[in-house]
Amino acid sequence: DEETKANLANSKSGLLQGFREPELDDNLGYFIKKKLRVWCRLHNVPWQSGQIQSTSGEKASVRLLDESVVTVPTQDLLPANPDILEGVDDLIQLSYLNEPSVLHNLQYRYSRDIVYSKAGPVLVAVNPFKDVQLYGNDFVTAYRQNLLDSPHVYALADTAYNEMMTDGINQSIIISGESGAGKTETAKIAMQYLAALGGGSGGIESEVLLTSCLLEAFGNAKTARNNNSSRFGKLIEIHFTAAGKICGAKIQTFLLEKSRVVQLAQGERSYHIFYQLCAGAPDGLRGRLRLKRASDYSYLNQSDCLTIHDVDDAQKFHMLMDAFNTTRICKDDQEHAFEMLAAVLWLGNISFLVIDNENHIEVVADEAVTNAAGLIGCGIQDLMLALSTHSIQAGKDKVAKNLTLQQAIDTRDSLAKFIYASLFDWLVEKINLSLAMGKQHTGRSISILDIYGFESFKKNSFEQFCINYANERLQQHFNRHLFKLEQEGYELDGIDWTKIDFEDNQDCLDLFEKRPLGLISLLDEESNFPKATNLTLTTKLKQHLKGNHRFKGERDGAFTVRHYAGEVLYDTGEFLEKNRDLLHSEIIQLLSSCTSQLSQLFASMLKQPQKPASSPIQVGMPACQKQSVATKFKDQLFKLMQQLESTTPHFIRCIKPNNKHIPGMFDKNLVLEQLRCCGVLEVVRIARSGYPTRMTHQEFTRRYGFLLPENHTCQDPLSTSVAILQQFDILPEMYQVGYTKLYFRTGQIGSLENVRKQVL
Ligand code: ADP
Ligand code: MG
Repeated sequence: DEETKANLANSKSGLLQGFREPELDDNLGYFIKKKLRVWCRLHNVPWQSGQIQSTSGEKASVRLLDESVVTVPTQDLLPANPDILEGVDDLIQLSYLNEPSVLHNLQYRYSRDIVYSKAGPVLVAVNPFKDVQLYGNDFVTAYRQNLLDSPHVYALADTAYNEMMTDGINQSIIISGESGAGKTETAKIAMQYLAALGGGSGGIESEVLLTSCLLEAFGNAKTARNNNSSRFGKLIEIHFTAAGKICGAKIQTFLLEKSRVVQLAQGERSYHIFYQLCAGAPDGLRGRLRLKRASDYSYLNQSDCLTIHDVDDAQKFHMLMDAFNTTRICKDDQEHAFEMLAAVLWLGNISFLVIDNENHIEVVADEAVTNAAGLIGCGIQDLMLALSTHSIQAGKDKVAKNLTLQQAIDTRDSLAKFIYASLFDWLVEKINLSLAMGKQHTGRSISILDIYGFESFKKNSFEQFCINYANERLQQHFNRHLFKLEQEGYELDGIDWTKIDFEDNQDCLDLFEKRPLGLISLLDEESNFPKATNLTLTTKLKQHLKGNHRFKGERDGAFTVRHYAGEVLYDTGEFLEKNRDLLHSEIIQLLSSCTSQLSQLFASMLKQPQKPASSPIQVGMPACQKQSVATKFKDQLFKLMQQLESTTPHFIRCIKPNNKHIPGMFDKNLVLEQLRCCGVLEVVRIARSGYPTRMTHQEFTRRYGFLLPENHTCQDPLSTSVAILQQFDILPEMYQVGYTKLYFRTGQIGSLENVRKQVL
């Protein structure tokens, strides 16, 4: 029929034209004749849209939108898409898939508050930095009932939910993007949708949502990039009953940024909870904690930033209390948590007096040390001793020696960091207990991963090293899923498939993970040498890794890694200390002797594998050997990847349209860089050049076999499939026949369905 033919013709011209990505050079005449639009690259400005007026040799004169005419080399022109494709939902619908076209499409939508687009199977979310009218019950219902089908987190969550329910396979929603791109908000929006669908079993779904509030107070902070930046990664596993109702949840966290507790960059803040507590604690609690204002604490006032524009910390504290009370964390436990926070703040105010020319010190006996000891639950003298001395073995005896000022400060700070990190882990554990209470787990789940994206700053330290390593792993998961599985599937089924290359990052993962000669192993080895410095570390790295094309040794204790998303220069200054993350034995003893309730909490933390060191790790400071931070993180990542491998993944790429956090501004270069980093452009290419629709021969013959003439005699499904395809004149370039399946280009099944409907 006419419509089917038209469909076929459309999909043919659109797809094949796009598939070949024709060079404009071959088509200049056509573009001039048809007055088609092109993208024109000019110096120092983004791509401009225009029409070619004439050409001479290698040059073309182009009329821009503002009517001005410029002359440019033809190689600086790219084809633009026809108006009818302006602002398409899915980038794979574009006829021309060049960078200016992709950017224009996203910007066109963004300027109309359409912040979501698809790139084949991936959802692209551009941060609006303002409230957009896209959320709430009406939208949830509309997506649930398929009244709306434009790209949205709701649509993606709906697909995940349906696949879990029908296939019984667990799902994951993997959200990535750089800091401030909108990952955490997106995760909350996905949870809202799932909570709305799966609600109705005793309010557990609202409890799941409330946990975000608690975790954000303890794990988020204002940074230069985001006023509410998550300083930890998290995986939230939402559990469902067989009937599809939420029955519990489990949270896993990764790599909390501990250093923020004691050290802040100018203009940034520590964790929200400290300011909220100082601003909002009621009088009784204030008295018990001996609490002062945020500005009175060194850990908080060091960065000249105590408040966040438009945020009322006192009010946030009251919301936090509400959240605490609904999560069944008992009053006593809440009080203990606040004691720990106050202890950390008072620790930061402890000061030292230098007592001799060797820079040895004594702790100043003031309210800071008194209050800290009181809150921790240890003796004042014990605390002062632990912060100012260390004992060394002299023959059979132990002799106490005074610490230097720097050692004392480091010891105090390591105690503060340890208390805070333990508190955070304890909170997560409590939340998990509360979320799992009395619920039986059916095994069905949707996991949402919200994890820091690739980071490359002027100065990159151990934290960036770990974060970027994690991103290499996630990128591989993404690649493997979208590219490798796709290609291998085609090849296994014996169909003709021109490989599309993608950058495999296995070699970069090897650089980090190989034993004994990978970055992590070498770092661990060096961390075990008492006398190692960052210079001996870099010398060792250079010695063993020179020749690895992903690695480059630099001067001054630095090295560069060529990540999939670009080169990053790491400064090894604090690598060894951060990787060892030691508490020295005086502090461990002190904590073990605490009388307060808090010691219970320390008890489980201190029980972690800490064998006595065979050699003292820090010069003169006996300490205990434990798993290094990098290795622990690596193990955690392996478990995470294993967990994700058993799910069907759904990917969301969050994009930050500008660095000023303002609505309505779309910085094309910034966006382009992010699209490249997260592989969106390659995804579009592969999805469109491939065969997105597939059906087994059995399915296909069952569905369309009746369209064949009565006297048809084929026996096996494969020959029947081929007969059907021929009967309906499907163009050979529109499909491929595999051993087990048929593969179709976009739109083909639609036309067959039309025929089927007319016949039935
Ligand atoms: P990330 O987790 O990627 O660092 P966030 O999710 O914290 O980033 O988002 C940063 C800020 O951007 C949020 O505090 C919020 O102001 C804004 N934002 C993000 N997503 C949305 C959205 N869908 N609608 C409105 N504002 C958003
Ligand atoms: Mg976040």
